[in-house]
Amino acid sequence: MFLKGKSAIVTGSTSGIGLAYARLLAAEGAHVMINGFGDAGEIEKERAALEAASGKALYSDADMTDGDAIGRMVAECRDKLGGPDIVISNAGIQHVAPVEEFPVDKWNAIIAINLSSTFHLMHHAVPLMKQAKWGRIITTASAHSLVASPNKAAYVAAKHGIAGLTKTVALETATYGITVNCISPGYVWTPLVEKQIPDTMKARGMTREQVMNDVLLDAQPTKAFVTVDQVAALALFLCRDEAQSITGANLSVDGGWTAQ
Ligand code: NAD
Repeated sequence: MFLKGKSAIVTGSTSGIGLAYARLLAAEGAHVMINGFGDAGEIEKERAALEAASGKALYSDADMTDGDAIGRMVAECRDKLGGPDIVISNAGIQHVAPVEEFPVDKWNAIIAINLSSTFHLMHHAVPLMKQAKWGRIITTASAHSLVASPNKAAYVAAKHGIAGLTKTVALETATYGITVNCISPGYVWTPLVEKQIPDTMKARGMTREQVMNDVLLDAQPTKAFVTVDQVAALALFLCRDEAQSITGANLSVDGGWTAQ
């Protein structure tokens, strides 16, 4: 239980990778504030399970498109759980379409949720971490923070932005005991990936099986989806004192995708 006495905010943790982060952090004793959308009963079940593991867990319904709501979420964590000592910016959405057909509202939403929310989180959390002289900021970027794929203009732009933002804030906080790193997964089997299959089928005129094998796993030399637990295990390591010198890094968990 090496995170006993620490608190963590994980955005977008009602599902997928975020939920796996929250579970591993709570299993190590951290008091976790989860966030994201979904069925109220399901969210409460998750919150209660996290609380059973670590003694305390809260849910924030902050919308990651709303900078003020993000500020209130950080303040609520400070007041009710302490810290935040660990902030994982993970909420994200996807939309797949060629640039000339890309809906402007989807562009704006992806930039807001996948990129600007991370700025707002850092903006509010860094002063508290500087005061504490300890902090861990982790952003879920993507292989798409390093390389591009067609039909994902907003997502690739946002994730490249996350990589730059992460490096910048790592430099600004380097002497304060704070580390700031990206984790960049390849394709992880979560609802986010499952939901983009129909759009990719349409955009590329492919069957479901063709999208799975020729588009998604085509990029990944291991020919296997990454698991949410593999991603979360790396985040947990970054929270250890042994990881104090890892900052400003973009750590791939992508089955070799970006080695090509
Ligand atoms: P997911 O769809 O399972 O989870 C996304 C989470 O974000 C959910 O909890 C959802 O409620 C939340 N969310 C969405 N919009 C929000 C908003 N406006 N405000 C607050 N919360 C909001 O997706 P996932 O695959 O677990 O993705 C998590 C992160 O990992 C994303 O940033 C994604 O880009 C990144 N990622 C995923 C993959 C993958 O293959 N699944 C690969 C690389 C990176």
